[in-house]
Amino acid sequence: MSTSPIPVFDGHNDAITHEDHADLATGRRGGDLDLPRMLAGGMRGGIFAVWTRTPPEPDGSRPRGAPVDRTIAAAHATASAGRLFALERAGAVRIARTVADLDAAYADPDGPPAAVLHIEGAEAIDPELEALDLWHGAGLRSLGPVWGRPNAFGEGVLLRAPASPDMGAGLTDAGRALVRRCGELGIVVDLSHINEAGFWDVARIEAGPLVASHSGVHAICPSSRNVTDRQIDAIGATGGLVGIVFGPLFLRPDAKEDPNTPLSLIAEHARYVADRIGVEHVALGSDFDGTTMPAPLGDVAGLPRLLDELATAGFTSDEIAAIAWHNWRRVFAAWWQA
Ligand code: ZN
Repeated sequence: MSTSPIPVFDGHNDAITHEDHADLATGRRGGDLDLPRMLAGGMRGGIFAVWTRTPPEPDGSRPRGAPVDRTIAAAHATASAGRLFALERAGAVRIARTVADLDAAYADPDGPPAAVLHIEGAEAIDPELEALDLWHGAGLRSLGPVWGRPNAFGEGVLLRAPASPDMGAGLTDAGRALVRRCGELGIVVDLSHINEAGFWDVARIEAGPLVASHSGVHAICPSSRNVTDRQIDAIGATGGLVGIVFGPLFLRPDAKEDPNTPLSLIAEHARYVADRIGVEHVALGSDFDGTTMPAPLGDVAGLPRLLDELATAGFTSDEIAAIAWHNWRRVFAAWWQA
């Protein structure tokens, strides 16, 4: 029996946007994820997000929901993405542009892991979408039109609980054009952070399977960031997936950012989605380096403990393999066929 951990594809991390990104290949002092710890935890692939923090106001405050100027976001996003390409050039990661890249990372546990380049909140893209072709040419294969603020394309939810994601208007004309163009180019459209009206606008365009890369179940944890039963049903009907987020803030019925949270709660969210729409629509989407992790997990090196917890919750080894890797692969294959 092999001692190497079960390969995991994780649907969301913010590691390249952190100040100590230069240590990603050799090991960061803190944070949730770096290459040595990915190796230890069996993380053979993941979505690496380019995310622009809301800049401070002159008084130093960062008002929630404040929009970000495109020139600031574009400069930040190109620099962040550049870090991932530097890691690729150094042989530390394999930027996944095709499903074959994912398969190669899966098949070779000693080689570089797959990294899917993702933009979280499309402020760096102009409303005419000219930059989108450049980003796709470079390797962008996933994009969330909005983060928790409005932009030229739509509106993200403000983080609230208990709260419905039904706040704000739907996609703008530019937002609808963005989603259509992502479908044509083969860029996954990620619905984590989008508000209710925007979710259904994306669904109506039918650009590809509906994906919420790092969200929880609203029926268990009533955070505005989580997917409702109706949204879960739509995700299932399109062959999409929910990447179950690991942050207690999005898992706990009290929606508290309390690290003293058992891993069984992640399994409970996975079980809910599996029972409602099928295990083929359940995946993982940690939000490493984007939110507080449960203490029993620690960091990415703790992934095998989470997979054990899925087994305890009754998932078979085939189901765990699907949740850990193959469901993400299927959804990428559907979007990237262009
Ligand atoms: Zn996020």
